[in-house]
Amino acid sequence: MASSTPLRLLLIVAHPDDAEARSGGLMTIYRRAGHVVKWISVTNGDAGHHEISGPELAGIRRGESVNAAAVIGADFEIWDHHDGQLEPTLERRWEVIRAIRSFQPDLVLTHRTCDYHPDHRAVAQLVQDASFSVTVPAIVPDTPALSKDPVVAYMADLFTRPARLRPDICFPVDDLRDTIIELFSCHASQAFEWLPFNRGNLDTVPAGEEARKTWMLEHFMPRLYGNVANAYRDELISRYGEEIGSGVNFAEVYEISEYAAPLDLEKRRKLFWFLP
Ligand SMILES: [Zn+2]
Repeated sequence: MASSTPLRLLLIVAHPDDAEARSGGLMTIYRRAGHVVKWISVTNGDAGHHEISGPELAGIRRGESVNAAAVIGADFEIWDHHDGQLEPTLERRWEVIRAIRSFQPDLVLTHRTCDYHPDHRAVAQLVQDASFSVTVPAIVPDTPALSKDPVVAYMADLFTRPARLRPDICFPVDDLRDTIIELFSCHASQAFEWLPFNRGNLDTVPAGEEARKTWMLEHFMPRLYGNVANAYRDELISRYGEEIGSGVNFAEVYEISEYAAPLDLEKRRKLFWFLP
């Protein structure tokens, strides 16, 4: 059951397609229940291509984000910082503090500080550094402080050093896969150009909308949401039973940050009302 006051979900990520790559299911669940969803890409994505870069690429990625946001009725911001050059500086921290205070989220999703991409790590560090500071009035006094931290959760990754992501929240997204594919397909410069080029399978990308949807199901979904389901198979089985858990193809998993508000039982029922 959705609560009567809409919940506010804020994703703070490094690149314009990161939210859709890991949290397409949760964003869709929130929007379908009438809750407010917004993502902030801290960089403009201007390095994420093999043939285009700079302002031209940033403009393309902004347009792709407009389309993706429209799929589920979400809001978004893309900040004008260069892709691949993000550092967790004091200025960036202040921007993140202002953004969290202004949006007043119930739940924030972000990256972990152990991740392959330096921009992801920088964003994770910025959110971690903002987590307590959002409640301190003397820090960034131009934007009123929050009385309480929001809950912060890390989006799934499969890195194991220094620690594997703890699956505090774990659920299948098989029934949402078409929407997730639609969301990520909006980022054509990534889904059908840069990422397959970078992975050496650009020659497998077909032309035509329907063929590309099938390609996404076979290449993109297993690589992100499928790998998560496989990595956390035991967890899915323990929560959903052997029959359902072992049949899940695609999943989302989140770890609750210990640096922000804890996910007590009341908050768990409120923020993840759809879980068993
Ligand atoms: Zn990214």
